[in-house]
Amino acid sequence: MYFHLQQWINEIAEDEPDPAAANALQEGLGGQFGEMRTMMQYLFQSINFRGPSGKPYRDLIQGIGTEEISHVELIGTTISRLLDGSPAYQGSSTDPVDQPGAGGATPLSIAMSESNIHHYLVGAQGALPVDAAGNPWSGSYVYNSGNLVLDLLYNLMLESTGRLQKCRLYEMTSNKTARSTISYLIVRDQAHENAFARALETLGVNWQTALPIPKTNGEQFPEVKELVERGLQSVQYTFDLGNQSEAGRIFQGASPSNDGTDLDGSRQAPAGAPSFIAPERFEEFSPGTDAELRKLIEATAEMEMADIDLTFGAMK
Ligand code: MN
Ligand code: MN
Repeated sequence: MYFHLQQWINEIAEDEPDPAAANALQEGLGGQFGEMRTMMQYLFQSINFRGPSGKPYRDLIQGIGTEEISHVELIGTTISRLLDGSPAYQGSSTDPVDQPGAGGATPLSIAMSESNIHHYLVGAQGALPVDAAGNPWSGSYVYNSGNLVLDLLYNLMLESTGRLQKCRLYEMTSNKTARSTISYLIVRDQAHENAFARALETLGVNWQTALPIPKTNGEQFPEVKELVERGLQSVQYTFDLGNQSEAGRIFQGASPSNDGTDLDGSRQAPAGAPSFIAPERFEEFSPGTDAELRKLIEATAEMEMADIDLTFGAMK
């Protein structure tokens, strides 16, 4: 079973709305090599895992799959922050993306000129389970052959392509909200490259100097450099409340990236960052509650809160 902590796995920096950046980030969420695929691929591989003697490999895949749930939440929230308020946004004078809503335009006129019209028409300035071209996420992206070496090879390819595309995304926008999440995912992708590479090393593969992929180091990006200096590329969390994960038996020793660091698989979870709920958007009729309905919601919420059994607290 999975628990939820009401925090983001990493801080989302504040900046202006940017609907074009939001649409670019859709590839990192619902694209063929996006977070929805990594999440589903690793969860299916751990659900279907066979052979009790291979438990450390199952635990490694499951821990990373659990982290990917948080990546879906992080990039989805980032997209929704980049969209939120974008129709009314007056913008900077230099950026044509920032025109919409200026000069008495209709409240949602932005939908007719910029980015993905579904961000305003189908959703209410929020993320969608689609790629940057609007194609819906597909379960057929998920690779789970049941052969451990093959699955690990595909996982390494998936993380490497994800890291490649995120390095490209970083170069597409200077928006701080977008870049804070892109940078975090670049570094975590490298940690997962290390994890699957290390697992394959224990099964006889020798990487020599192939890692990280892409070879051009993301350290040229200042936000990435800061995270790498904190060693985040060499840490893998277990996300295991029951202290039963054996993933640390694999995720240890010298990093396959040959960056002079040792792998650390001993930590349960990162510290996380405070999360908050998006404001109401009246032009989207979202949430669309009137005073009477809101009173009802508040009363129901209070009743439910009073009933909550605090058996399962926050992670320690
Ligand atoms: Mn991820
Ligand atoms: Mn990953």
